[in-house]
Amino acid sequence: MSLFDAPLFKDAYKQLEDAADVMGLDRNILERLKYPKRALQVAVPIRLDDGSVKTFQGFRVQHNMTLGPGKGGIRFHPKVDLSETAALAMLMTFKCALVGLPLGGAKGGIEVDPNELSRQELQSLTRRYATEINMIVGPSIDIPAPDIGTDGQTMAWFMDTYSQLKGYTVPGVVTGKPIAIGGSLGRAEATGKGVAFCVNFAYQKKGLTIGKDTTVAIHGFGKVGVPAAVDLAEQGAKIVAISDVSGAVYNADGLDITHCTEWTKSGNYLKDLKNVTIISNEELLELDVDVLIPAAIDGVVTKENAPRVKAKFIAEGANGPLTKEAIEIITKRGGFIIPDILCNAGGVIVSYFEWVQGLQNFFWDLDQINSKLHDILKDSFDNVYETAQKYETDMKKAAFISALSRLERAMRLRGLFPA
Ligand code: GLU
Repeated sequence: MSLFDAPLFKDAYKQLEDAADVMGLDRNILERLKYPKRALQVAVPIRLDDGSVKTFQGFRVQHNMTLGPGKGGIRFHPKVDLSETAALAMLMTFKCALVGLPLGGAKGGIEVDPNELSRQELQSLTRRYATEINMIVGPSIDIPAPDIGTDGQTMAWFMDTYSQLKGYTVPGVVTGKPIAIGGSLGRAEATGKGVAFCVNFAYQKKGLTIGKDTTVAIHGFGKVGVPAAVDLAEQGAKIVAISDVSGAVYNADGLDITHCTEWTKSGNYLKDLKNVTIISNEELLELDVDVLIPAAIDGVVTKENAPRVKAKFIAEGANGPLTKEAIEIITKRGGFIIPDILCNAGGVIVSYFEWVQGLQNFFWDLDQINSKLHDILKDSFDNVYETAQKYETDMKKAAFISALSRLERAMRLRGLFPA
């Protein structure tokens, strides 16, 4: 399998090349960012509840570590492969650089549908995976976190396994841990909160204010979509549509987000909600709303459906939800896209806070965390917006340009080894 197989890798690399062209980046710098620094593929055999053994494929990819230890989530999903993991690791390099974190880019995952495994099987899977990749992770090497299909419990098992291998507790090996074992306040909501902050910044730039006439559709009412919905509803916006795997629900007068959150948290599907119109996930993406937040998975808006996407603002809550062609189509018709590496960076920013708090064994309160998160995202948003104006380009390329400028400076100072 070639690294360039997955559409996400091709797209991420093409976006990088485009940004490099616009800013006139030295080709030698681009050449050094082309492939991941290190990629590990592991077999993860576990005993299933029925006594049989099943082997899964696991990966951990470190794309670039010029700015610091690798950072990025672990994904449990049937679509996980080496190429997709490498693309996501590459996006993490630029995400961390863009928001000024002293961290590099990494990603990991297992090709598995976690919904098909029992809790015990998931624990075995996580512990065996942690054991197989333990030699390339650690608080100063590479620090995993949750992503699609993983959560605080996964991180707790991962941290415990790593600590068992070391013989002492190492909280700093992962972030996104439960609070009781060194997690940070605000981490669980951070990605969604960051999305809501970014929508607000975009509105401000356009001289608009979020209010009761602001309509929002959210594709993916989960770890990112729920807190984004809660925050935007608090700001006064009307969330008219949300979706999960069962389908999408719509109410032109606005959905009761508190009720919807309780409903899904209790394990119910959105399609079974009362007083809503059921629509498809595809229809949700094409609703005539002010703000569309694709917060589920990559590649949901492509060149096929992009011409029908009507939202004025599109906030990329997921990683790579719009393909490169979709971005071009929407930008051409005047849509304002808040790029993923900026829009969903709230998660890794609070992960960074968690890592720092763990290293110093001193914990901050929620107000401190949320205000620092706000300030970092505000500066980053302004930086991307100004870069877009300076280079007369779109927000997506501008985000890559800002990140590349930071990386280039650091790469030049460190030099190429051996000289
Ligand atoms: N998985 C998240 C992301 O894609 C968070 C990564 C982290 O916190 O390290 O940004």
